[in-house]
This record gives sequence, C-alpha cells and structure tokens, in this order.
Amino acid sequence: MEVNAALYAEAIDDFLLKMEKLRGEDDPDCQNAIEKIGSLLRIAMINVTFYRTPENEHRGEGNRLCLYRNGDPDMDRFHYQRESMENGNLVVYSIHQKTGDPDWSEQEIEKIGVLAKMLFVYNGRARVMKMAEYLTFYDRDLSIHNLTYFTQYADGLISRNRIGRFTACYFNLRRFSNINQQVGRECGSHIMNIFVQQLCSLFTDEEEEMVCRIGGDNFIAIFYKEHTDSILKFLKGTEISVDTPVRTRVMVTASAGFYNIPDSCDSSSSIVDCVSMAYNVAKDLDKEPYIFYDEELREHIREITMVQNLFPEALEKEEFLVYYQPKVNLKNYQLVGAEALCRWYHNGELIPPGKFIPVLEQNRAICALDFYMLEHVCRDIRSWLDEGRDVVKVSVNLSRCHFGNMNLLTNLLSIIDKYNVPHKYIEIELTETTTDVSFKDLKEIVFGLQEHGIDTAVDDFGTGYSSLNLVRELPWNVVKIDKSFLENNRDAPEQNRVMLKHIIAMSQEMGISSIVEGVETLEHVKLLKENNCFLAQGFCFDQPLPKNVFEERLAQLQA
Ligand code: C2E
Ligand code: MG
Ligand code: MG
Repeated sequence: MEVNAALYAEAIDDFLLKMEKLRGEDDPDCQNAIEKIGSLLRIAMINVTFYRTPENEHRGEGNRLCLYRNGDPDMDRFHYQRESMENGNLVVYSIHQKTGDPDWSEQEIEKIGVLAKMLFVYNGRARVMKMAEYLTFYDRDLSIHNLTYFTQYADGLISRNRIGRFTACYFNLRRFSNINQQVGRECGSHIMNIFVQQLCSLFTDEEEEMVCRIGGDNFIAIFYKEHTDSILKFLKGTEISVDTPVRTRVMVTASAGFYNIPDSCDSSSSIVDCVSMAYNVAKDLDKEPYIFYDEELREHIREITMVQNLFPEALEKEEFLVYYQPKVNLKNYQLVGAEALCRWYHNGELIPPGKFIPVLEQNRAICALDFYMLEHVCRDIRSWLDEGRDVVKVSVNLSRCHFGNMNLLTNLLSIIDKYNVPHKYIEIELTETTTDVSFKDLKEIVFGLQEHGIDTAVDDFGTGYSSLNLVRELPWNVVKIDKSFLENNRDAPEQNRVMLKHIIAMSQEMGISSIVEGVETLEHVKLLKENNCFLAQGFCFDQPLPKNVFEERLAQLQA
C-alpha cells in the first residue's frame, strides 16, 4: 500500500502541533495524533521500553504506548528502532504491524523511522515534564506533596464545591532539632518520615486526604472533618520507634492550627492564611499548643497586628507612660521603693501592659520599650534629684527577649550613666527562665549588673520551674514573691501559706531580701508580718501611680 504523502505530512504537523501543548503521555490529543499517523502506516502497536545500559541488564520495565487495541500484533512482523539517551540509557521502540496486512514498503519503513524519532522526542519531553511536575509538586526528601500542590488541590476542591467536607491543619514538630541532636540527622529524617506515614494512615481516602510538607518540620494537611479528633490526638504525642542504627524510641509532638473549612471558602490562600494564623498563636502556648481558627481568633490577631503596626510611631510620639507602684516597708509603712510599670496612652485611652507586652515580646519590639522605660525612669530620677527631692530605688522590668543581645549590659549602663543616675537608685527585675541558653545569658547579666552596683530582683518568683536553682546559682539582691502565693488555694488551703513561709525564710537565710507583690488586704499584710517579711507592693497601699501622683508620695517622704 502506498503512503499518502500529503496526509502523512499533515498528520505529522498535527502531531508536532499537539506536542507543543503536550500535557503528558496520557494526553488524549496526543494519542489521537499518534493514532492518525499510525493508521496511515498500518501500525498495530508500539512498545516503548527503556533499558539501562548495558542493554542486557533489561532493568527498566519501560512505558507501553499502545496505539491500537483492535487486532493482535503479529510478533514476527515488527520494526525495531533503538535510540540511546543521556546517561548511557537506551530506548527501544518495537513497532508492530497490523495482523493480516501485507508487509511494509521501504518508504513506509523510512517513515516509521521518522515516527520513532518523533516518539523519542515525545517521550523525552514527557519525562522532563514529569520530572518538572515532581519538582514542582513534591517534596523530594519525604516523597509527599508540597505547598504548591496543596494550594492547587484545595482550589480544585473549591471549584468542585467539595471544600466544606474538609478540615485543614498547619503543624510543626515541636523541638525536632532536639530529636535530631539526640538521634542524628539521618535517623531524625527517618523518624519524621514514619511520623508522616503514620499520620497518613489515619486517613480513609488517600486520594483526597493528604499531608504536604511546607519545609523543614512544617506541614499542612487536609482531611475529612470526621478525622479531626483522631488527628489532633495523634499530633498531641505519638511514640515512634526506629531500629536503625540502634533501637530508638522518641515521642514526637506537634503544635498546630486547625481550620474547619466552610462551604463558602473561596480560595486556597484564605485556607493557608487561617491555618497559619491559628498556628502562630498556638505555637506560643506551652501546654496545649492547638488552636482552631474562628472569628474570635481573627479579632485577637487583628488586635495583635494593630499593636505591632502602631508601636513604632507610638514609641516615637512617646505615648508610653511610666506609672510608679510604691513598695512599702511594713514596719513603718514608709515608701521604700517603686516599680516602674508601663501604660500606653493611645487615642485618649489608657491601655494596660497585658494588652501589648505579650505582643511586643513576639517580635522583640519589647526590647526597645524596655530601654525607653529605663530611659524615662532615669530622666525622672535625674529631675527629682535636681529638684532636691528624696528619691527611692526604682525597679524596671526587663523582658527575657533581651537575652542574646551581647551588648545588653553596656546598653543598660549607657542609659543610666547618660542621666548620671547613681546606680543605687536602679534595680532590674528579671523573670525566671526555662531554657539553658537563656540561663547562661541571665547569669551574665545578673553578675554584670552586680559588679556595677545595680540590684537585681527575680520577678514572679515561684511561678517558673527552675526557681530553686535560680536562687542558688545567681547573686540576686531581691526575690519578688509572686502574688499567687497569697491566693486561697481551695483544694489545699495550707499549701500556699506553707510555701510562702519557707520561701521567705530561705531568702532570709541566704541574705536575699524578699518582697511580696499583689498585697491587697490587711489580712495579707498580717500574714507577711507573721512570716517576717516586711516589704510589700500592692493595691492595699497603692495602684501603679502616674508620675505626678507618685511625686506627691515622694514629697510625703521628705516631710
Ligand atoms: P509584674 O512585673 O509582675 O508587675 C506587677 C503587676 O501586678 C502589675 O501589673 C501591677 O499593676 C500588678 N499588681 C500590683 N499590685 C497588685 C495587687 O494588689 N493585685 C493585683 N491583682 N495585681 C497587682 P501590670 O502593671 O498590669 O503589669 C503586668 C506585667 O506587665 C508586669 O508584671 C510585667 O511583667 C509587665 N510589664 C509592665 N511594664 C513593663 C515594662 O516596662 N517592661 C516589661 N518588660 N514588662 C512590663
Ligand atoms: Mg515586675
Ligand atoms: Mg511580678
């Protein structure tokens, strides 16, 4: 049979055109184009097989590309074409003739050769595209999908009106660097892999539910709403054991933000936003680091963002005010000191520190505020001294966010010395710390201040976990006993009192002075006196006072 040259050329053109918008091997357009050429050339089937060289290894299973399923190929009548690829690999096309047809002519065999070359290009392209797809949509280390795939997949669910069936979750493996340190990086990756596989095993539909890796130990997952409880339980803590290189068992936990996606959700980016927002709040919670996104959370986040955005200008405009809360000697009820506490005066409203300090601690902006407070306190003390008033020691709070600042001591001293404030008038309050790293920094700063004659107080004593070590290892001047010790513990009424008594006694024996904060009633005062503690701070005497009111207290001191 003669090949119609015009039709053949047209079919090839068509094929090449289709290849331009090739989506992959299963692209029906491309299949149709190949079928068209194949029918002209009386081809029953084309097998494409990839071999690793040397050819006889025959390891590659190869791709099978069948053009016709009608009629069995005649195994004796096929054309065999080999091409070598990069990396020394080999691709073999076996092109089978339709059963019952007369043999191919020379001209047809030549054209079949051209077709085989085209298929070689086609397959190469398909493989490159597959590779590109893999790199775009997969995480290579864990062989699971990535964030790009997640967004595409979620958009697909939205367009098919199916998104309302799902919950999304952003999670991070907690302290995974510790696990890596404990077992080594390689074993750590293995553990991460097992954790993800086990999590996936909670899904019932592996096509629709999935975990995608965002990067490092951050993941985003999407699953049916009815699986939320089991996934939350899994993320709260799962023990993973591995045998390589030695038997190791570790507890893996995650912090997570969840979002029960509503039917009305209209973009994958809003899903990513909501789970990330919930996660960002959850990650700072020590005990139960899991949060579901809802309107209340959105409002909370709105407030956080507002504080963060307004802060730089507010600092510049000096909207932050120093309030002074007196410290009182219980023997004669004289003013003996004060704590400087921050208030934000914004748009005619006085905002308490609970509303903005935790927010500023998140991005270390608190450090600027602490320096600002110290500077304002020093400025006030300077002016009081210049006016010839009697002055008391003022304590300034220093956030833990300062740890890591190598110049902290120099920064503090330069502010104090700029106003030429005698060091005896300044005390620095620091809270307990839980990590070893910050403990080292804490130690340095407490010793450093000590050397320069500046007192240090451990604030909220008794609320952290390392209290006793902290007093043993550092030369504090003052222990500020937390107000919670004054509460009536209903379950164990005596517990707080016993602890209060012993903390006071211990401090005394160690030569550290103790003060109790949150002293609200005369009963509290009596309790302190009974336990030989004669320093107090609290509403029983004064609220934190604006500067001018505190100045009246200073004036009484003189009288
Ligand atoms: P803190 O350093 O433990 O300060 C004592 C807190 O207890 C103050 O709350 C004070 O107003 C409150 N208080 C005093 N007496 C009583 C009382 O009798 N009963 C009760 N229930 N509370 C009392 P405030 O002013 O709201 O400050 C809260 C926290 O904010 C402070 O706790 C401190 O950790 C932080 N803070 C305030 N100003 C600054 C600052 O300039 N820098 C830093 N880093 N933190 C600050
Ligand atoms: Mg304090
Ligand atoms: Mg305190």
